[in-house]
Amino acid sequence: MAKKKTKLKAKKKTATKKVDALLAAVRGAEHRYVGHVRLDVGSAGAARVKRMIYPPGFHWAKDMKPVTGTELCMHAHVGFLARGEIHIEYADGCIVEHKAPQIIAIDPGHDGWVVGKEPAVMIEFDFAGDTINRIGMPDAHRH
Ligand SMILES: [Zn+2]
Repeated sequence: MAKKKTKLKAKKKTATKKVDALLAAVRGAEHRYVGHVRLDVGSAGAARVKRMIYPPGFHWAKDMKPVTGTELCMHAHVGFLARGEIHIEYADGCIVEHKAPQIIAIDPGHDGWVVGKEPAVMIEFDFAGDTINRIGMPDAHRH
């Protein structure tokens, strides 16, 4: 008599593991950490494309100010907030909150932090030291 099969074949695990493309290392990019922010940077034409991961609890004034030595973040951030939520405060007291999915255009001269328990993942475009001119952003927040 043939032995009855009692066990189901163990499922193959190789095909079931999903990679979170928003958090995984970006192929062909340069990886580094600055002030607890993970950067994956690559070039595209004359521009740079950056996948930035701001961890939960990130606060620019605490984590990045010691690195930049400026009173506020003087970068323009242009791109796409793909995951999470951020809170931006300008020197004049204006507050802007962004929640994924959202296009972002943050003027220079701001503090900011991650809201909630999820990392904020931003896809940003820049032109290194010439971003403000070439991307067409103001050099500071104003009305
Ligand atoms: Zn304002």
